This record gives sequence, structure tokens and C-alpha cells, in this order.
Amino acid sequence: MAQAFVQALFCEKGTEEACGECPACKKVEHKNHPDFIYVTHEKPNTISVKEIREQLVEDLEIRPYSASHKVYVIDEAEKMSREAQNALLKSLEEPPEYGVILLLTNNASSLLSTIRSRCVTLNIRPVEEREAVRKILIKEYQMPEYEAEDILNFAQGNVGKAIALATGEEYRQMMDDVLALAGRIHDFDQARIREKAHDLAEANRKGGLDLKEYFDLLVLWYRDVLLYKATSNPEQIYFKNRIREIKRQSARGRYSDLKEVIDSIDRTGKLLRSNIDAELSLTMLMQAMKEI
Ligand SMILES: [Zn+2]
Repeated sequence: MAQAFVQALFCEKGTEEACGECPACKKVEHKNHPDFIYVTHEKPNTISVKEIREQLVEDLEIRPYSASHKVYVIDEAEKMSREAQNALLKSLEEPPEYGVILLLTNNASSLLSTIRSRCVTLNIRPVEEREAVRKILIKEYQMPEYEAEDILNFAQGNVGKAIALATGEEYRQMMDDVLALAGRIHDFDQARIREKAHDLAEANRKGGLDLKEYFDLLVLWYRDVLLYKATSNPEQIYFKNRIREIKRQSARGRYSDLKEVIDSIDRTGKLLRSNIDAELSLTMLMQAMKEI
């Protein structure tokens, strides 16, 4: 959406919608337009005050090179440190007439209220046209039909997420890892649980793993187990190729335990966002999973 917006602003055809063909549209698409600045950050989980100052605040003083405007995009804006957000306040409040700053976030409430009060909020809703997203995945990203189906289920109408999943190896790896964990947790002893908790916490800290997505997949697994327990119908199961293990867990787990695990995943996810000891809370979560 941010890219489409910048293209519409810069397009040389000057019509309401971007043409997608002219040099300006192309340069925006390839992220090499000199007046379109995509703020980058070195550490995976933080955008520092230095990065905001150098790439945005100071750069904003310089007039656009060829376009009418200069646009800055801060993706995952919730990763800005408190100092970074404070450094941005003045630019947000009184940008030069050519300055446009777009903050993209999945969680606007985690930004400082002083930031939010200076922004216009546009809520991007999930796309309802499942078919349209399916076509994009198959045509433009050469996805096999069955994989496109998996991704559509998981992305739930979030096109950006669907594309990220379709283009990244990480998704497949994460899926395999979640299935190995949820499917075999009953064989894990204490040492193995602690080791797994340690590995996940480390990967999360280094930015190699998005624990939120990891947890979304785990919840899907237990949703399958609950659903199968309630209906004995394999039709609506998401992980169809793991039906045997899902049957087994649904026969063994009580409703209350399964519900407890789903709540526990949710709770752990929230705790992890508030920087508590990730390893300990992951260990406790896996303990609860094992007890089913
Ligand atoms: Zn154009």
C-alpha cells in the first residue's frame, strides 16, 4: 500500500492512479528512487535514534532530487526505540512542505501517544477477495496450488504477509519446526524442553525468528486438535497431512487442557512482547503442551 501510494504521488503520467510503467513508478518499485527513502536498521529488533536522525531527520532538510515530494517509509515502526520516536516528533509535527512520512505498523498502540497524535491513522483491513490473492500467489510468485492454499489460510487476508510467506524459505522452515514441536512434544524430556526454549528465545532475540508467527501456527495446531475432538471431521483441519497425530492428541487431551494450552500460548506471546524472561516462559508453555 505504501509503495502504491508513493507511485501515485510520483507517477509521471500525472493521472489519479499510478501507471506502474514510467521511470518514476519503476524506480519506486525497485526502491531506487532518490526521493523515496526506506528507513533501514542494523539490529533486527530495534530502530535506533541514530538511524532515525541520519536517515530521516537530517535528510529531510535536503530538498527532493527530482520528484515533487520526498517520502520516508518506516516499516515495523513499533521497533523504534523511545529515543528514536522522540527524535522524530519535530519532523512529524512540522515537516517541510515536500516531506511525507509513512509509519507502517501492526501495532499502533505500542507507539508513543505523542507520535500517534501527530499522525493520520489509516487502518488497512484484510482483503476479502481470497481469489484475487490466490491468483497473485500462483501467477506472480509461481506457487503450486496446494501451497497457495496453505498460505491463504495462514495469512488470513493480509496480502503483505501472504507475499512475504510466498517469497521466504523461512516460512517453510518455521512450519516444519512448529509441526515437529507440536507433534512430538510428548517425547521431550526436561533437558530437551529447556534446550528448545533456549533455541527459540535466542532465535527470537537475534531476529531470525518471528515468535508471533510461530505462535500463530502453534495456535492453529491446537485449534485443529480441538476442532477434530468436537467434530471428528477431517475436512476443516488445517494440517491435513498430520491428521494421525491430530487424532491422537484429540483423543487424549481434555477440552479444558486444550483450551488452557491455547490461552497459555496467547499469554506467553503477550509476555514476550514486554521483554520478560523469554526462555522461562517458553519452558513453561512447552511444559503445558507436554502435559496434554
Ligand atoms: Zn507512472
